[in-house]
Amino acid sequence: MHSLHYAITPADPAAHIYHVTCRLQRPDPQGQIISLPAWIPGSYLIRDFARHLSGLQVFCDGKAVKPVKLDKDSWSVPPLSGDELVFQYEVYAWDQSVRAARLDTTQGFFNGSSVFLRVHGRENQPCSVELLSPAMPVEGEWRVATSLPRLDAAPHDFGLYQAADYEELIDHPVLMGVFDLVSFDACGVPHELAVIGRHAGDLDRVTADLRRICEYQIRFFGEPAPMPYYLFILQLVGEGYGGLEHRASCALIASRNTMPQKSQKKISDGYREFLGLCCHEYFHTWNIKRIKPAVFSPYDLQKPNYTELLWAFEGITSYYDDLLLVRCGVINAESYLELLARTITRVLRGKGRLRQSVADSSFYAWTKFYQQDENSPNAIVSYYAKGALVALCLDSEIRRRTDNKASLDDVMRILWQRYGLTSEGVPETGVEDIAQEVAGHDLRGFFEQMLRGTEELPLSDALACLGVRMELRAAESSRDMGGVRLKLLKPANGGDASVNETRADFGASVKSENGLLKLNVLTRGGSAQRGGLSSGDVIIAIDKLQVTMANFENLLALYPPGAKLRVHVFRGDVLKQFDIEMLPAEKNTCYLELDADSDSARKTRKAWLESGS
Ligand code: ZN
Repeated sequence: MHSLHYAITPADPAAHIYHVTCRLQRPDPQGQIISLPAWIPGSYLIRDFARHLSGLQVFCDGKAVKPVKLDKDSWSVPPLSGDELVFQYEVYAWDQSVRAARLDTTQGFFNGSSVFLRVHGRENQPCSVELLSPAMPVEGEWRVATSLPRLDAAPHDFGLYQAADYEELIDHPVLMGVFDLVSFDACGVPHELAVIGRHAGDLDRVTADLRRICEYQIRFFGEPAPMPYYLFILQLVGEGYGGLEHRASCALIASRNTMPQKSQKKISDGYREFLGLCCHEYFHTWNIKRIKPAVFSPYDLQKPNYTELLWAFEGITSYYDDLLLVRCGVINAESYLELLARTITRVLRGKGRLRQSVADSSFYAWTKFYQQDENSPNAIVSYYAKGALVALCLDSEIRRRTDNKASLDDVMRILWQRYGLTSEGVPETGVEDIAQEVAGHDLRGFFEQMLRGTEELPLSDALACLGVRMELRAAESSRDMGGVRLKLLKPANGGDASVNETRADFGASVKSENGLLKLNVLTRGGSAQRGGLSSGDVIIAIDKLQVTMANFENLLALYPPGAKLRVHVFRGDVLKQFDIEMLPAEKNTCYLELDADSDSARKTRKAWLESGS
């Protein structure tokens, strides 16, 4: 046991309560401050985890002392002469995401940032953690899955674990319960996948695919891998999607339907997306967990940490999470182009791309990207999706400038050598500086446009250099996510097939709420918004015909550009009518195909899609 020691018990699983004890030898004689983080690294939103902490009791050499409340998540213990302070408290844990903590009679999961107090002044000191078995009956024989290093515990068992410092302590989530466990080796590093939640998936296939992804990435950045062991923690649910990266593990949530079935040979859209998620979180093992912005070194866990670099840490990671799937042979080139075309489509459909730069999107992640509302598509751009497209343009630019001798891969490897291996924070201009070095050219104008500008990205040219042809068209329906060729539907009247060319767009999405059909997101400058409609309006009739969720889209599809329609809505409890003129649909849906006219484009494409495979 270390002089800083924690113990956590699933004390009352049915009530979602953990009991936590923190035992500290030689507390600060001037008064000891303790706090719980306000946010978890990797998810840029103030979550105030301390709101679920209660019943804090403090003992000094066995005698109760009263802590002083400092703010919403900090306390202090007044100057005392004792040798040992003990903090006891309980944490309510019923969050269903990967970012906090949950507990019931079927399983427990927690991030240290939700449960372990930070002892101020002792952040850099090693600590021990005892994971105790449930104090009340639970379902089945529980085991433990965590990348937290073991001190005195059998593999996958409760017992004593340890961390080198507080930042490490909160960077190894813990899963407890009855789960499937499969293991594999990637470049000599043991990897495990722990799967909790009902499923009938073929875990042998998942393991084989994960191994290819992991081995590719370890070789991409260069052996040896930076972690001695890696754990994928996967919770399978009915509906859900998400992941959070850590230094030697990641926590994932996915729909059980995404798992491949034993007889299934093809790769479903859902399974492809799941592999992309795994590839994404694993890439973070290097890009953000070790190569990280200077402002995250160390993190200030009590308030937002601002950086313009999330486009690089999330955007470049998003670029590679799909690209590496084709490079390591899990999907083919056509399948990759479909994914890339969908990313382009997502960016082109948001008017916010013309108002917010990716540098600003990164900086304001805390209040804008993480707190989206009905206006977000008009006001902000995703540093994930646009960041991935900036990465694509940068990769293409470096290949063009160096006659395909260098690429974004080299930028990532230099970042790893210079900042990852040395644990030095990346300055705000660090990625741009290395990219210019690799390209051997002044890229200041390029970055000004890409990162700090809001004009359209030169995607068609960037893709042409990579031997890919880009086509833009109007969306066929709200289900059209792009990535596929126009279906050339024959109109019902038997006319020609150019129906897509003459589509109009209402410019509003709807959602059903308490049986009412409500306008949700209105495109700025679109038909509905220009005509006076608002988000939240309950739509009753279009052209005096009743509207339902089922007929909304088909009804509107009958009106060509220029058509005028009268729309009746309730705004609040007032009936209103608006005259809407239908505007032509924008060509914001992307399709990509392999198209290498020149030898040089063909060579570049081969290096781009096949490098190291
Ligand atoms: Zn990410």
